[in-house]
Amino acid sequence: MARTKTAVVTGSNSGIGLGIAQALAAEHHNVVLNSYSDKDEDHALAEEIAERYANKTVYIQADLSNGEACRSLIEQAAMKFGSVDILVNNAGIQHVAPIEKFPTAKWDAIIAINMNSAFHTAAVAVPMMRTNGWGRVINIASAHGLTASPYKSAYVTAKHGVVGLTKVVALETAEDPITCNAICPGYVLTPLVEEQIPDTMKEYDMDRETVIREVLLKRQPSKEFATVEQLGGTVLFLTSDHAAQITGTTISVDGGWTAL
Ligand code: NAD
Repeated sequence: MARTKTAVVTGSNSGIGLGIAQALAAEHHNVVLNSYSDKDEDHALAEEIAERYANKTVYIQADLSNGEACRSLIEQAAMKFGSVDILVNNAGIQHVAPIEKFPTAKWDAIIAINMNSAFHTAAVAVPMMRTNGWGRVINIASAHGLTASPYKSAYVTAKHGVVGLTKVVALETAEDPITCNAICPGYVLTPLVEEQIPDTMKEYDMDRETVIREVLLKRQPSKEFATVEQLGGTVLFLTSDHAAQITGTTISVDGGWTAL
């Protein structure tokens, strides 16, 4: 790639998003880190990445449960760097409960953050990519975008929605030098997964190690967590010229989960 690209990675002060942001920074792209928190640590993290990878990394706060904030994030990134070339929709939350006890507020938040945000950011970024003649939209869905598990009604719904949105954006940009794909990770040991362990321990009356082996990795035939570095590498592949004809599809990084 000749010109330095600008990448926005939503939800990137932690976990998979941070891993992806670092992979893009290592390629010397401009990187926009994002979360809702706007703490000193978030800005310090951006400075640390910029120093480590000798690129430009900035932090922009946006609460992605709000559609206008999603749109403003992309506009602010373009004002800062001139364009948005790579959009990684990664922000996500989880809540685990049987449907009859699933709080409506949690349902609304998961649908807004995990699914609607990808619509709002893409709606603003895709026209910029068309103008610039190059673009990559990469949605971090999940194995739960292709399969389901009990107690995750909102998450599974949102992730299936993201896979559907991926196909539509790919078709709408098919004749442009833009691709849109979804990455579907299996379990990755990040704060989002750590937070599920205590509830799952209670739900199944198991200790931590048994929950990891028998519940979390039960459907991951490799019996290993995927890593944030592997997800960063998958994003780099999708941004490369090798992937220019890959669009509207999903790439599973799930240790064989969806082969079962
Ligand atoms: P994480 O909790 O470590 O990170 C989530 C990120 O989203 C954080 O940066 C957080 O600040 C951000 N975020 C949450 N709410 C937000 C809001 N309202 N506005 C802006 N940012 C917000 O989780 P993770 O495991 O790294 O998950 C990242 C993505 O990967 C999610 O979409 C998740 O569904 C998906 N995923 C994770 C796994 C896994 O096993 N960890 C598996 C499949 C898919």
